[in-house]
Amino acid sequence: MRLSVVVPCFNEEASVERLHRRVTAALAELPDVDVEVVYVDDGSADGTLAALRRLAAGDPSVRYTSLSRNFGKEAAMLAGLERATGDAVVIMDADLQHPPRLLPEMVALYRQGFDQVIARRDRHGDRFLRMLASRSFYRVVNWWIDVRLLDGAGDFRLLSRLAVDAVLAMPEYNRFSKGLFSWIGFRTVVVAHRNETRHAGRSRWTFGKLFNYAFDGLLSFNNRPLRLAIYGGLFLTLIALGYMAWVVADAVEKGIDVPGYTTIIVSVIGLGGIQMMILGVIGEYIGRIYYETKRRPHYLIQETEKAGGERAPTLS
Ligand code: UDP
Ligand code: MG
Repeated sequence: MRLSVVVPCFNEEASVERLHRRVTAALAELPDVDVEVVYVDDGSADGTLAALRRLAAGDPSVRYTSLSRNFGKEAAMLAGLERATGDAVVIMDADLQHPPRLLPEMVALYRQGFDQVIARRDRHGDRFLRMLASRSFYRVVNWWIDVRLLDGAGDFRLLSRLAVDAVLAMPEYNRFSKGLFSWIGFRTVVVAHRNETRHAGRSRWTFGKLFNYAFDGLLSFNNRPLRLAIYGGLFLTLIALGYMAWVVADAVEKGIDVPGYTTIIVSVIGLGGIQMMILGVIGEYIGRIYYETKRRPHYLIQETEKAGGERAPTLS
């Protein structure tokens, strides 16, 4: 069998070589597996590309793709998946948070017939606030969207060719991988491992980015927020109608009276706010449609391990 290991790298010069040694060591336990390691340099500003060139020069199983700028991890993963040729593909981070020693176990499970082997980490060593935020994120998302997300199950997983082709068949521009991987289904198994802290450099996740990511997750899997807007609107309209009936009845009984300034201001401002919010939700979806209709490529390739580099942009 042929195994591809896909590694997106963004400013990981301090980690790639060590990662490569560990991956090679772990896969040496599996002499009957033909291995390729596909590194994707996601427009790093440090010496990552140089390190990848060196690795490729010294090891024929190394392939690399360098993107023309930083396109983000989702795009880098996609680039790797598209270039991978294996019967099974493992996606892992470059920062050694995804321990390569799990590889033999994952391959063994693949051989037992699983199409997705998810390596799930515990939250050991996470800061309390981050843990709390993640927990609530998963609770809200799983209640809200159609796919099931597992806390601690990130992008570290093995996909069979069947699963990889299923993921690649989804051309959407807004890629929320956690959701996509869960959406495709297939025979899935989870292996647990202990959380590793980052080897070098810094995580790209700031609190703001995490918040946006959570928002993306909520909006990208169905149109339930729009449905909620309709129900909310309906509810408020009913309240307004009820109130109107009461005001009319009151006027008939007691004659016309003008006070109620506060009520008017409160309802004007309140309704204005709600309308803006709903417009915002609609705007989010329209924005997504806008991006999808442009059909831009997810990434552009600057260089690959083939001498001279591949120049043609991939339209994917
Ligand atoms: N990464 C990438 N492009 C980016 C940001 C990150 O390819 O724009 C890679 C990064 O090099 C690493 C992986 O994605 O291999 C995970 O990134 P990070 O460790 O920053 O995220 P975290 O582990 O905190 O989720
Ligand atoms: Mg990391």
